[in-house]
Amino acid sequence: MDLAFAEAEKAAARGEVPVGAVVVDPATGRVLGAAGNRTEELSDPTAHAEVLAIRQAASALNSPRLPGLDLYVTLEPCAMCAGAISFARLRRVYFAAYDPKGGAVDHGPRFFQQPTCHHAPHAYGGFGEARAAALLRDFFKDRR
Ligand SMILES: [Zn+2]
Repeated sequence: MDLAFAEAEKAAARGEVPVGAVVVDPATGRVLGAAGNRTEELSDPTAHAEVLAIRQAASALNSPRLPGLDLYVTLEPCAMCAGAISFARLRRVYFAAYDPKGGAVDHGPRFFQQPTCHHAPHAYGGFGEARAAALLRDFFKDRR
C-alpha cells in the first residue's frame, strides 16, 4: 500500500486527483503495475490509477487476465475500475479510503455483489484510510 500512496502523491504533484494503484504478484512480491491518475495529462476519462496499473500488468504478462494477482489502491474503486478489476480476474483488492460518493465496491452499485459480475475478487477496505483521506482533502483544499 505504501507504493500505491507514493503513486498517489506523484499524481497530486502532476495536478491529478491523488489516487494511486499497484498490481502485485503475492507469490513473488513482484510489482507488475504501478500508476497514479493521469486523466488530465492524457485527456482520458478512463485513465484512472487502477486501469493504468492493470494495463501495465497485463502487458507485462502478455495476458488479458491476471488471476492470482492483487491490487492495492488508495481509494475505493469506481464502477469503471471495479469492472476492469473483474475482467482482469484479480484475486484480491485492498483499498485505503472508502468513497461514499463515487465508490462502487461498498457503495453505489456494489459492483462485485451483482449477479451480472462474473468474477468478484475478495475486496478489503480501510487500509490507511486516514492517510488517503488526508491526501485527498489537502489536494482539494489547495485547488479551492
Ligand atoms: Zn476508477
